[in-house]
Amino acid sequence: MNTSDLPGFPHFHFQGGQMYAEGCALEDLAQAHGTPLFVYSKASMLAALGAYQKGFAGRNARICYAMKANSSLAVLQVFAKAGCGFDIVSGGELDRVAAAGGDLSKVIFSGVGKTRAEMQKALAAGIACFNVESDAELEVLSSVAQGLGKRAPVSIRVNPNVDAKTHPYISTGLKGNKFGVAHENALKTYQRAAQLPGLRVVGIDCHIGSQITQATPYLDAMDRILDLVHDIEAAGIPIEHIDFGGGLGINYQGDTPPPADDLWAQLLRKLDARGYGKRLLMIEPGRSLVGNAGVCLTEVLYLKPGEQKNFCIIDAAMNDLPRPAMYEAFHHITPITETTGSGLTYDVVGPVCESGDWIGRDRALNVKAGDTLAVLSAGAYCMSMSSNYNSRGRAAEILVDGNAAHVIRHRENPAQLMAGEVLVG
Ligand SMILES: *Cc1c(COP(=O)(O)O)cnc(C)c1O
Repeated sequence: MNTSDLPGFPHFHFQGGQMYAEGCALEDLAQAHGTPLFVYSKASMLAALGAYQKGFAGRNARICYAMKANSSLAVLQVFAKAGCGFDIVSGGELDRVAAAGGDLSKVIFSGVGKTRAEMQKALAAGIACFNVESDAELEVLSSVAQGLGKRAPVSIRVNPNVDAKTHPYISTGLKGNKFGVAHENALKTYQRAAQLPGLRVVGIDCHIGSQITQATPYLDAMDRILDLVHDIEAAGIPIEHIDFGGGLGINYQGDTPPPADDLWAQLLRKLDARGYGKRLLMIEPGRSLVGNAGVCLTEVLYLKPGEQKNFCIIDAAMNDLPRPAMYEAFHHITPITETTGSGLTYDVVGPVCESGDWIGRDRALNVKAGDTLAVLSAGAYCMSMSSNYNSRGRAAEILVDGNAAHVIRHRENPAQLMAGEVLVG
């Protein structure tokens, strides 16, 4: 029996010509549960988390999983049990943390458009910190907290104006982005926060983008943030924690981001050199914890040869895997039974009635109708961004743990799709 790891996709491998997630053959899962089907490896998630934990060993640090990457309850449960906090961006995400048994006192709340109702709910839950993104939000949060007889713990999200060198839709730390308070206005915003009766300044944060594959933007952002911490504290406002956000990339198509422990070794050297190494540190990783821990299994429905293009039509679509349509993103696509021979070059597309509904372009695949394919790197920003467009129910999800395969979400049925709708008359 030959066993070969899929490089860059830990805990997925081929054995005896079949693709496995840990001890589970993917073809068995596809047969038992149908397709499209998301399959996640718990060991892969914990290994990704382990790299951060190794990087922070001996430090006063908190890892807050940015759950918008994958907010399925059993995935949250994995990270909650491993001791993580959570970075949330809505009241709905707070409900999910509670439902998954997460510690609400380790929740931080990011986002440019928090409503009063969301603020009230998060204050009642006793979250660790609001990452405030504008002067206007500060005023509203202070008055909401006062109304409840509380003081809201706040950090200001500072926009350090560094280029994360990633796709424009997932770059967030440049001037002209909607996120955060401009670096040059941040001190003034902190002074205002310190005066407001409903607030208690606890930290500072930044988040410069996503799918970042170099250390330099992080090092630059850290310098800018530490300069500010110095100025804010010189103005008499103590900063308890420093939060450097998330954004570390993963290997989609030969990308080579630094491993989390290497990146943090570099960042911690700078922090120590500047005298901030003993502070409470926070980070908000999302994609790098789950992205390569998941695949989406899909059946080839039809092969449609054409004069200019051959199409491989699969049963997963842009509603399940939105990243190619949204960002022209790349996912590896592979048959889960090893094939020999080169086959043809296909555009791999879904059944949705949009030309934007493609999953991969110009892929050499030796396939026939009925084969099962795996779309790799499908653990982050796939299920959590999925929709019901074309009245397609959401896929089922499996969490593999060694030889056990747990159904963690049932396939959505027609009654669930129409629940909440009302006919007139
Ligand atoms: C999306 C987001 C993250 C996580 O980003 P990844 O690229 O998935 O690591 C962290 N913090 C904030 C504020 C975010 O919006």
